[in-house]
Amino acid sequence: MADLLTIGAFARACRLSPKALRLYDDLGLLRPARVDPHTGYRYYAPDQLDRARLVAWLRRLGMPLARIREVSALAPEAAAREIRAYWAGVEAETAVRRDLAAFLVDELTPAPRRDTTMLELRHSARSDRGRVRPANQDTAYASARLLAVADGYGPGGGPASSAAVAALRGLESADLSAGNVLNLLAEAVEEAARGLTEEETGTTLTALLWTGSRLALVHIGDTRAYLLREGALFRVTHDHTVVQSLIDEGRLTPEEATAHPQRALLLRALSPTSAELPDLRLQDALAGDRYLLCSDGLSTVVPDARIRELLTTAADPDSAARSLIDAANAAGGPDNVSCVVADVAQRTASSRAG
Ligand code: MN
Repeated sequence: MADLLTIGAFARACRLSPKALRLYDDLGLLRPARVDPHTGYRYYAPDQLDRARLVAWLRRLGMPLARIREVSALAPEAAAREIRAYWAGVEAETAVRRDLAAFLVDELTPAPRRDTTMLELRHSARSDRGRVRPANQDTAYASARLLAVADGYGPGGGPASSAAVAALRGLESADLSAGNVLNLLAEAVEEAARGLTEEETGTTLTALLWTGSRLALVHIGDTRAYLLREGALFRVTHDHTVVQSLIDEGRLTPEEATAHPQRALLLRALSPTSAELPDLRLQDALAGDRYLLCSDGLSTVVPDARIRELLTTAADPDSAARSLIDAANAAGGPDNVSCVVADVAQRTASSRAG
């Protein structure tokens, strides 16, 4: 008893308020060493200070109480792993919110933009069953306004992927200059999700919509968008897969991921049961940019370095799409494979007249 600290002394020592300590006791996060049965006063042991201080720091980090309860009960090394995983999740979520904030700022800013009216998209869309699958459940689409790849799964996977792309095609003729791109995209994606009713069925969707000056990106699932700019290949999208989140959290290396038995397991997709919103972002368009949208049938079997090589050497979008699909099939073609390739190009006199 003589060794125990009163709640006030303990609170001062660990920089938590007595009120917080009472809450953490109620939540089972930090039990006092002793509670006086007559007065109800709480007493804490000095060796509880380390845990109390860790709880205080984790609160400051913004970690939810339920997660603090788990982390603060772990040995230091395991706790460190969990804190790293938590923070990776925060950063991923922040990145999505940062993109959304930038999108909103751009939509709400009436200032004159860089003149991009002389740019246009030259495009090709190709989809192939691959060498193993009995049917093709991918959908690939390209027009002067819209580039899209969707990878359906489940019994109604084929119709699901084509419905998702069809919902976006409704925007090809919409007025996208009035600062309503974000709403229109969200509505189109909701419409696509409403169209999915079959159990165990859903689709990924990765698309770029030409707003007249920029490209609005919509992305959910593990289909991908890449940008080849000045010889460098950038992956524009983040896979919504269990394996990618394990990589982000430092629990798995990218090398281990390629052999992971659950590498195709999606964290997010369009499905009848999920109300997940897609990632939304605006991409600047520069003449000379070459975009690739592809299903995982390409990215699972053809490494990024080879994708970059094939994109760089192809003379035009259609030969790029063809050679990428050939590469996937040469690697066994284990899945449906879809590629949309588009070049951002200066308008020619003839296309202006047309
Ligand atoms: Mn696939």
